[in-house]
Amino acid sequence: MFFPIIFLAAAPGSRPGPESLPPPFAGASELLPALLVPAASAVAIATLGLVALLFFARDRSRRDLLLYALLAAGLTTFLAAGLPVWKHDPGRLRAALAILLPALAYLLLLRFLELPHSRVRLALLALPATGVLLVAAVPSAGRMSGWLEAASLVLFGGAALLDLARLRRQEGALLFAATAALLLAALFDAGASRDVLLPGLVLPPLVGPAFLLFTALLLVAVADQGRVILERATIDALTGLPNRVTFLDRARRELARAERSGSSLALVMLDIDRFKRFNDRYGHQAGDRVLAQAGRAVAGAVRGIDIAGRYGGEELVLVLVEVEAEAAVAAVERVRAAIAEVRLPNVQEAVTASAGVALHHGAFDRAEVAELIRRADQALYRSKEDGRDRTTLESRGPERPTSPAEVRYR
Ligand code: GH3
Ligand code: MG
Ligand code: MG
Repeated sequence: MFFPIIFLAAAPGSRPGPESLPPPFAGASELLPALLVPAASAVAIATLGLVALLFFARDRSRRDLLLYALLAAGLTTFLAAGLPVWKHDPGRLRAALAILLPALAYLLLLRFLELPHSRVRLALLALPATGVLLVAAVPSAGRMSGWLEAASLVLFGGAALLDLARLRRQEGALLFAATAALLLAALFDAGASRDVLLPGLVLPPLVGPAFLLFTALLLVAVADQGRVILERATIDALTGLPNRVTFLDRARRELARAERSGSSLALVMLDIDRFKRFNDRYGHQAGDRVLAQAGRAVAGAVRGIDIAGRYGGEELVLVLVEVEAEAAVAAVERVRAAIAEVRLPNVQEAVTASAGVALHHGAFDRAEVAELIRRADQALYRSKEDGRDRTTLESRGPERPTSPAEVRYR
């Protein structure tokens, strides 16, 4: 995720060449434009550092943090070495870093996207390894270093673009666009600074704004990834309904609210009838499609204030708020009718569902969610015994409260 920093680092356009180097300790008017890109980069590095910490908090990966720290230190050194305040040109150090940093950033990108370090990807590292050795050990390699820097930029930028293009994820498209913009900006800067493009024109480096754009898009991608992770943890992927943990959590809150407000509610367990047989006849994938459609049908059949969830397997649960027995049963019949309408192409057979309903009597009822689920399950069992495709309201017999006082002291 952090590799674009490199484009900035390696962008020859952002680097004053020896001939364009202002005299040591230049005046403020010359220093200010030169400071613009490093200052923007510092903001971006700090932002990316926060992102790295976020990821560290998520999966405790020290390797990511170490990679990021190396990258940030390398980039800071690179930027500092480029400031026009040095008497001696630290060209070789900057060249080595410009060759190395794209590789480091690419490794971080692989970690961010959770892509494997395959042999082909690792083989790419041969270029920066040889390049850095050449620049460090061979004094005459100076002239070659420009080519090596450009090669590293194109190689790792291209590899990153390929990997991002193959991702079938929304954040992949965002990062691809931002990375492509950065790579183009860096290459444009390189061409412009060598008078290959628009000769005679002195342009501010494009890579600075492109880098800031990248940071902004990266933050969007990270926020999106956070949303996806949260969704995966709370929503059942097959039916799109809240999963059991989320459902129970919301049911508990709804029960507490009912106790405070005194309104009654119903907890409903639904189980698809003879679903094992359906799977055996039409295959598990067809069964999955039925479940997914049933999930959507249920979500559409309850009111916005009710809660529907997937309890497990082919069992769904509902909390219907502010309902008495009659309204609860009517609502469950609507939900069962919606499930019975689910059809797969080429499958004539409809699935039906059985339901069991337990009631909570508001302010005077002390029953908890687990107790309501147990009672709804018992009622569901009765539905199954009586022939399926029906709804049973719990009958609590002599125990069933007839007045608030009776509930309270029971
Ligand atoms: P009944 O409830 O009417 O007594 O019969 P049943 O065949 O539905 O019995 P039961 O509820 O015990 O069986 C549940 C079956 O649901 C077992 C399994 O094959 C199927 N099932 C559970 N979860 C899934 C799922 O996610 N996808 C598919 N395709 N099938 C599932
Ligand atoms: Mg079942
Ligand atoms: Mg079943």
